[in-house]
Amino acid sequence: MNPSGDAISRETLERNLRRVRERIAHAAAKSGRSPDAVQLIAVTKYADIEQIKELMSMGVTNIGESRVQDAEFKFKTMLAAAPTGGPFDPYRINWHLIGHLQTNKADKAVRIFHALHSVDSVRLAEVLQHELARAPNAAHPALLHQVLLEVNVAQDAKKYGLEPKIDEICALLRLCSELDRMTVIGLMCMAPHSDDPEATSRRVFRRLKDLRDEANERHAYRLPLTELSMGMTQDYAIAVEEGATMVRVGSALFGREKNPVQ
Ligand SMILES: *Cc1c(COP(=O)(O)O)cnc(C)c1O
Repeated sequence: MNPSGDAISRETLERNLRRVRERIAHAAAKSGRSPDAVQLIAVTKYADIEQIKELMSMGVTNIGESRVQDAEFKFKTMLAAAPTGGPFDPYRINWHLIGHLQTNKADKAVRIFHALHSVDSVRLAEVLQHELARAPNAAHPALLHQVLLEVNVAQDAKKYGLEPKIDEICALLRLCSELDRMTVIGLMCMAPHSDDPEATSRRVFRRLKDLRDEANERHAYRLPLTELSMGMTQDYAIAVEEGATMVRVGSALFGREKNPVQ
């Protein structure tokens, strides 16, 4: 269901998915990149389990959820209903946590999510390491425990994330280099909500890419950071043009797109 409460038909979902994939491919081509360089994370925070299964049957392999409890409910319900290795085994897809993570939910999060996009403090990184080290066998081997650091590029007081200061980002990356149970793969940001994302989002995405490139030049982390998680329904095409490797799209799939393709 979308926020207005209407479930959309499989046909509509399929058409929306095709359009989103086409726009990603088009934006990638425009900036000289392969469409395969961009992963679509289908954000299912407004969707039910049936719609997640429909997405799986359409070849979607990356699902994004904002809240640990919602993801846990969907994941466990699917696991209970589906045989291991069956078409709707929830381990067949990668679950991405895109919303804020509280330290007291870290133990649950490491059992469900393949990637956590919202790590923004030393404390949270250390708690995750602790949870992963404490129960290494409780976490399924399919889970990669990838981490992205969230940066509050727009410096929105209501949002989470590190300040967009290279020294601060590099300090957390250096600490994370010592945490061997997880792998930091890149940076994540959200542009402000806008009726004119061309005017607001592009700058934000450029800044995140600059920060990522600078952190790599400084060898702040033990590996180069390859990923940029940026762009949602309002601005994912702009994000791809600016180098996004992961876009997080919900409303455009579930029928609430505000800026339809011209
Ligand atoms: C909900 C959400 C999205 C998806 O937003 P849409 O506008 O529905 O595409 C992306 N990223 C984060 C962090 C979100 O919370």
